[in-house]
Parts: sequence; C-alpha cells; structure tokens
Amino acid sequence: MSYRTEEVAYVQPAVLPAAQAPTVKRSTAEYRALDAAHHIHPFSDMGSLNRTGSRVIVKAQGVYLWDSEDNKIIDGMAGLWCVNVGYGRKELADAAYRQMQELPFYNTFFKTTHPPVIELSALLAELAPEPFNHFFYCNSGSEGNDTVLRIVHQYWATQGKHSKKFVISRKNGYHGSTIAGGTLGGMGYMHEQMPSKVENIVHIDQPYFFGEAEGNLTPEEFALARAQQLEAKILEIGADNVAAFIGEPFQGAGGVIFPASTYWPEIQRICRKYDILLVADEVIGGFGRTGEWFAHQHFGFEPDLITLAKGLTSGYVPMGAVGLHDRVAKAIIEHGDFNHGLTYSGHPVAAAVAVANLKLLRDEKIVERVKTDTGPYFQKKLRDTFANHPIIGEISGAGLVAGLQLAEDPKARKRFANGGEVGTICRDFCFNGNLIMRATGDRMLLSPPLVINKLEIDEIVAKAKYAIDATAQQLGIS
Ligand SMILES: *Cc1c(COP(=O)(O)O)cnc(C)c1O
Repeated sequence: MSYRTEEVAYVQPAVLPAAQAPTVKRSTAEYRALDAAHHIHPFSDMGSLNRTGSRVIVKAQGVYLWDSEDNKIIDGMAGLWCVNVGYGRKELADAAYRQMQELPFYNTFFKTTHPPVIELSALLAELAPEPFNHFFYCNSGSEGNDTVLRIVHQYWATQGKHSKKFVISRKNGYHGSTIAGGTLGGMGYMHEQMPSKVENIVHIDQPYFFGEAEGNLTPEEFALARAQQLEAKILEIGADNVAAFIGEPFQGAGGVIFPASTYWPEIQRICRKYDILLVADEVIGGFGRTGEWFAHQHFGFEPDLITLAKGLTSGYVPMGAVGLHDRVAKAIIEHGDFNHGLTYSGHPVAAAVAVANLKLLRDEKIVERVKTDTGPYFQKKLRDTFANHPIIGEISGAGLVAGLQLAEDPKARKRFANGGEVGTICRDFCFNGNLIMRATGDRMLLSPPLVINKLEIDEIVAKAKYAIDATAQQLGIS
C-alpha cells in the first residue's frame, strides 16, 4: 500500500515533444515521490537518495538519453557498460515482438530446445575464438559466474580430482552480486555486508600500477610481480587443491584498470603449469568493447571459460552465458548429468534479441570500426586532451573504454587523500553538464555505446574536460 502518494500534490506534466508523450505520464516530482516511497535502488544509500531524488530517465536514442525534465544527456557509460549497439534499434524490438508472438517461453530442461537458442549458440560459436563451441545460458553476469563455479567443480569431478576446490580471484575485481559473485569479487564494502560467503575462494592483489606500485618498478615489472602472486598463492594452498583462477581481462567496475602486457601471459603460464582452469570474466570486455570481439583476444591469452552478459543483448533484455572451451565442454558432455539450470536458461525472447544484436555488431562492422577507427580516435583524443592536466594521473583503456585517474600530483603518482570525494565532485559536474561519466573512487570511467561517432566522442571529451577542469578549480589546483 502506498502511504506517501496522497501527500504529493499532483502537478500537471509539462508539455512534451510528441515522442515523449507516451512514456512520461507523471511530473518529475510525482515520479520522485513514488520512487522514494516504494523502490529500493541497487548499491545506493536510500536515505540520502530519497532526500535529493533520482533522475528519471524516460527515453533514449543512439547515444543520448532524455530525463523527465527534457534534458538531453550524452551517455558515456552505455547504460551500465551494456548498450553496445546504442539505444532505439528497431531490429532488436522487432525480434522480441516476433518471438513473443511465436513462442514467448519454453524451457530447455527436459529434452527440449527451440530455434532462438539454437541460432544463438551457433552464432556465438561462429563469433567466439575457435575453441569456444558450447554455451550455457542464464540471466545475468552474476548468474554466469555462479554457473562458472558449478562448471569448474563438475569439470574437476569428471577428472577424478576432487580435492581441487579453491578458486583464486582478485581484490577489487567485480564478478556480480549474488553470494557467489560477491564472494568472487574483491570489493571490501560488499564483503562487509556478506557474513556468509562461498567457501574456498581466496584473493590476490590486483595489477593496479598507478595506485599500488612501489619504488621504481616499471608497469611491466609490476604487472609481472602481481601475476606471480598467483603462483605463490597456488603453492601456499597446494596445486592439488586449486580449481581455477578468475579475472576480468581489464577490471571494469574496479576502475577500468588495464594491466601491462606482461600480466596475462604470465597468469596463463602459471595456470597451465599447475593445471588450473583459467576463467575470463568477459561481462564488460565481451562483444567489442576493446575493439576485439572479446577482451582476452586484446590481451592475447586463451581462457578455459568465459563469462558473458551485458553486451550479449546490448542490455535490451537480460541474458548471461558461459562459453566453454572444447576441453572443458567435452568433459561436461561426456560425464552424465550436470545438475544446474535456471527456469529462463536460454529464454527464447532474450535469445532472439541476442541474435539480432550480434548480427548488428557483425554485419554493420561495429566491432571493426571500434578497432580501426572510433576506438583509436577516442583514446587519442582523451590522451591529447588530458596530457599534463594538473589532476589527471593516467589514462588507461583501449577501444571504447577508458579510466581517468584523478591525482593530487600526477607526476609523483600521488593520489588525493579524499579521492572518493573528489570523484563525486567531478561526477556531479558531469551530471550537471548532461554527461554520464561514472566515478569509482578517484577514477572517472567512460564506456560509451560502440556506435558512437567522432562528433559525439568530441562532445563527451569536451564535457569531461569541462567537469575535470571545474573539479580542479573547486579544489584550488591549476
Ligand atoms: C556487471 C558485471 C557482472 C555482473 O553482471 P550482472 O548482470 O550485474 O549480474 C559480472 N562481472 C563483471 C565483470 C561485470 O562487469
């Protein structure tokens, strides 16, 4: 029952352009009051949010969003790292509409299947690197990583290696927010609120050069040392007890942290040496973000399992998946029942949307354009714009993803003591300038839709510059 709506005076909606009329049915004040009264947001301080009120997003097209006050906002984050083909693609809407009429749901549990999940699996096998020919479906990245754990344990059971139970992950990694995803991730603020965690998961340090390298190590030396922590951890636990290592090829939510080129080859060498499965969480990196179809291709390594979600459907409907390397798939296929599944595994509407989405990425050569044209342009533009900026310490990224490190003294690699607050100040300037740029602590993140053009990139970078300059000015740094 609503208890606050009565208190909200109804305000006649402003006159809106025709295209918005169907979606905006209440005033901003009324939306905010109802939202505050009934909606708990993810990862939010609701008391504080309810005092200021949320921004109400009512429609989107291309790389732009509109809020309920008719502000046009450029989306530097592709929703939440997911709207790779941009907003408003009719092909995806049509695919969902047709599939809902034809077969809105059927399960894939009891010796049944359906055309959309078959088409999607065949298409993923075509797009993924050669050894990835089998896919298991779920509804999110978190469920994907839960599924990864189930597959990893089943794999070692089929090999008769029942002691291989430990999974090694990284501090400041992000693998979702189910109990398993949250445990695999290395976010202290999440672990603090999770008194029960999944057993046998341990963490090593992240390859975050700017923030954590000491002394005179080069980025390559530092990345190598961080990779070698995996070997030390395996020796500590005993290789017979270690099942897998999981990492994002580049850390997304952790701040778009790109390890130096020495990192992944060393991780792969160690995993092979001790017979440990290597899992790449491709939930952000997958489907073109770095200019390659998958981020592990950008870094040049070969995982045994890949977690997929976000860009799989460009966020138009929820879907996640796990891709299995042939050697893992073979073991799972040949050893009887695998007792895992979700009602919506391979959901026909989600699968139909994923197929339409992947065909756009492929046939419109969107991924290739990120690699050869818009990606390099974006990276260069950022680096040129912020070279020698008084509060930018480094720019990391490739393709259409970037992390901008805020720093008190960029040359000395000195971070702000109150970095989180500085990030929030900068984020608020972006917000007011109608740019969506995310702050995680003292890093500002960009990950726009992959269909963005150069003019729109110029707009994002100009608005980011304005916000970062304004932040420096507020801090009295010039
Ligand atoms: C977003 C994300 C997840 C979790 O995906 P959800 O769909 O939010 O459950 C997992 N791994 C990575 C790398 C992510 O960025």
